[in-house]
Amino acid sequence: MIFEKEHELVRQLAKEFAENEIKPTAEEVDETSEFPMEIYQKMAKAGFLGIKIPKAYGGSGGDHRSYAIVMEELAKASGVSTIWISSPNSLQSTPILRDGTEEQKEKYLRPMVTGEKLFAFGLTEPGAGSDAASILTTAEKDGDDYILNGRKTFITGAPVSDYVIVFAKTNPELGVKGISTFVVDSKLEGVSFGKAEN
Ligand SMILES: Cc1cc2nc3c(=O)[nH]c(=O)nc-3n(C[C@H](O)[C@H](O)[C@H](O)COP(=O)(O)OP(=O)(O)OC[C@H]3O[C@@H](n4cnc5c(N)ncnc54)[C@H](O)[C@@H]3O)c2cc1C
Repeated sequence: MIFEKEHELVRQLAKEFAENEIKPTAEEVDETSEFPMEIYQKMAKAGFLGIKIPKAYGGSGGDHRSYAIVMEELAKASGVSTIWISSPNSLQSTPILRDGTEEQKEKYLRPMVTGEKLFAFGLTEPGAGSDAASILTTAEKDGDDYILNGRKTFITGAPVSDYVIVFAKTNPELGVKGISTFVVDSKLEGVSFGKAEN
């Protein structure tokens, strides 16, 4: 059997959430391009932001099936709503879970799961989409810091983010192997955001 009893409970929860919370505002979200933050907070309370994130960091420690079920049920009400769930569960948490230090996991994953802090994933650039390895953003070591230089595009949620996971070349000679990931504080001096795409 593909689905266990717990999966059916997850489906029921997601189904009710989609019906009661997502559906009523779906049309307005599509028209205004603005997702209500109070719904985001309710998604956090329902445990949707950290379905796959380990319990040790405040997540639910669920499996891929639970994640797929939630995505499926919410997408029936609004495609946009699923981006707010897929992002913390995949793009934003994976680099930290895979390569972050214990300190970084504690610092970033918990507020990501609770919805206290908003993250964005900054990989794409005006000249580097499918061929992500051709990014031009660089990161150069400067004492204890890194100085990042570059421009990103199409970064979902960037203007409202607290942190952006930015991909930058630390060793351009190594090509794809010379790219590193940084958690950049969106409020830092020198970080700016362009106009939102329609
Ligand atoms: C709604 C939305 C949200 C996004 N959010 C984010 C985000 O949060 N963070 C982020 O980093 N990026 C984000 N992106 C960017 C997304 O990752 C890029 O759009 C994607 O990587 C494609 O790049 P591109 O748009 O430059 O298209 P291109 O790479 O220029 O591709 C254009 C077309 O050419 C085709 N093509 C490309 N290369 C080849 C090839 N070698 N052979 C044959 N065909 C090819 C593609 O299939 C496509 O049809 C978002 C994009 C959208 C539309």
